[in-house]
Amino acid sequence: MRKQIVAGNWKMNNDLAQTETLISALKAQKNTTGAEVMIAPTATNLWQAYTSLKDSKIEVIAQNMHFAESGAYTGEISAKMLKSVGVNTVILGHSERREYFNENDALLAQKVNAALANGMRIIFCFGEELADRKSGNEEQVVGNQIKNALFHLEAAAFKNIVLAYEPVWAIGTGETASPEQAQDMHAFIRKSLADKYGNDVANETSILYGGSVKPANAQEIFSKPDVDGGLIGGAALNADDFFAIVNAF
Ligand code: PEP
Repeated sequence: MRKQIVAGNWKMNNDLAQTETLISALKAQKNTTGAEVMIAPTATNLWQAYTSLKDSKIEVIAQNMHFAESGAYTGEISAKMLKSVGVNTVILGHSERREYFNENDALLAQKVNAALANGMRIIFCFGEELADRKSGNEEQVVGNQIKNALFHLEAAAFKNIVLAYEPVWAIGTGETASPEQAQDMHAFIRKSLADKYGNDVANETSILYGGSVKPANAQEIFSKPDVDGGLIGGAALNADDFFAIVNAF
């Protein structure tokens, strides 16, 4: 059975004090489901978050990492550094990294390789822009994003990969893909995995949906058979909202 996961991407929000406050509020919440819960605070607060949550069931994950092991990459953070502060999962390929930091498929493939070589789990994000959807090219765009960054891997690597379909037009906009649009794309992604790696990999890989998931729409989105959870941005900054989404399973 593939895992159900709800991960909160805090982006560049919350200083140390705010991180501590939000984590205290999260610790007071109850997960009434079998879903795994993760939060991705900003890099400067990962150690604090890890320390506060290490005896809880909330995993602390990173928003990004560099592909190199170490060296002259000013401002960057390696997989080994993340692991040294208790972080074993990393989000890669978020649309904001692609758009504002020019991360392309080739770079992301290097990051994927580095994370896996260091024994990390990856939440790999991808999704089409509005123009792609308007022109009916969304499956082609998403198919290429997955193929270019992941399909050089062996099947076994997918034990450590979670996919996150995030249509760019729905991130932080208040627009959500309809549950049917999400299901159709997730089914396409699963079929692409099955065509390349077979049914076992396809059926065991969790595919999350991201894009303006809120307490009000989570249940309907999560009820779709190929939606295995969510990557949550804005609503992850409020403990009540975040756990209302977790408990929507
Ligand atoms: C995200 O950034 O991954 C995201 C889905 O953001 P939001 O929920 O705010 O749309």
